[in-house]
Amino acid sequence: MLTDYHKARQITLAQSFNWGEERVPLAEAGGRVLAESLRTDRPLPPYDRVTMDGIAINHAGYTTGRRVFKIDGIVAAGVAPATLTNPEHCLEVMTGAVLPPGTTTIIRYEDLVREGDHFVLPDGVEDAKNIHRQGSDAAEGEELALAGLRIGGAAINLLAGCGYAEVRVKRFPYVAIVATGDELVGVGETPLPHQIRMSNVFQLQHQLATGELQASTHHLADDKIELSAGIERLLADNDVLIFSGGVSKGKYDFLPEVLAALGVRKLFHGVAQRPGKPIWVGRTDDTMVFGLPGNPVSSLTGLLAYVGPFLRKNQGLAERVEMRVLATDFSFGKDLTLFQVSSIDPATQLVHPVTNAGSGDASSMLRADGLLVLPRGRSTFAAGEAFEFIPFDKIL
Ligand code: AMP
Ligand code: MG
Repeated sequence: MLTDYHKARQITLAQSFNWGEERVPLAEAGGRVLAESLRTDRPLPPYDRVTMDGIAINHAGYTTGRRVFKIDGIVAAGVAPATLTNPEHCLEVMTGAVLPPGTTTIIRYEDLVREGDHFVLPDGVEDAKNIHRQGSDAAEGEELALAGLRIGGAAINLLAGCGYAEVRVKRFPYVAIVATGDELVGVGETPLPHQIRMSNVFQLQHQLATGELQASTHHLADDKIELSAGIERLLADNDVLIFSGGVSKGKYDFLPEVLAALGVRKLFHGVAQRPGKPIWVGRTDDTMVFGLPGNPVSSLTGLLAYVGPFLRKNQGLAERVEMRVLATDFSFGKDLTLFQVSSIDPATQLVHPVTNAGSGDASSMLRADGLLVLPRGRSTFAAGEAFEFIPFDKIL
């Protein structure tokens, strides 16, 4: 009995694991999920900040009609400012400097004429210009990003600014990607005529790395004893196992049997989808197991349709469904959810199905940006209709 895609996805997302939290250096925090709130330790900005190179004056000295101001000194960024005592004088100030006490507005060099030790000011100078006020972005002790946020560039900027040399994040799972198959040899080896190099595992590893997730790679032969011993070890050491191959109906597809014998409880085996129909998913108390079929487009589909959403969910992130509009009419006659390898036209943002020679055609993925999910129960899909789209480069 094949499980429907939506049901299979729902079962997968219902599996929750507590992987805990860990502290990581800020430089490694990108892509991780914050497990604490970011709080400012000072107001942002921490002082009235000068935002232009120029001069600071007391506007009271200008409203008297004075246009020539004697230069009392320079205040650079990074120094404690001098105080302007005479409102008929000015201080040169640099961007990032503290607004000198006794001054109220900044005039940029572009609007000034220098004559010896004086500046000549134009008409129309307004008070309180070119100053980024203390605390105007955030107050001291304010919560800026809530726990549960995925750390991106902006969060890193603020975390750094607020002194977080280390950040508490959700722990990433230990993930092992396992190639199965006697026909597979290593990348650096020369295959015999009846062999191929294992390639899927490295693609899966890279796809996970797009989400900053590190995974180890392994290879097990189509042999029950070797599989059993290898998997027992991998189950003990990992939170998530991802297999490529060995779950179909072939005489040497031993994985379902071996996993069951090792106490991995089956959640579903076989989904009404193409490609990737033979997918096997199960778990123990501590480890989630994804058995993805070995054809390259099938294993990628399994990773993107199930493993990615599962990882997101267990990092506490909301489910993400991206919708995209089909560029051309398309038809597919089988009662299966079709994960169609597709490209996005950069000009129109519309989705174009990429023709391929089936799930074994790894090269078709080169011309594509993701998978368009075309629902079962219908055979024609019209240009202009929107469907779920799973991008290749966004696992988390
Ligand atoms: P299987 O799911 O084991 O029946 O494998 C389906 C097809 O995918 C076979 O042609 C395998 O040789 C191929 N295959 C399995 N694993 C890999 C891998 N890691 N890299 C490349 N091709 C693979
Ligand atoms: Mg195989």
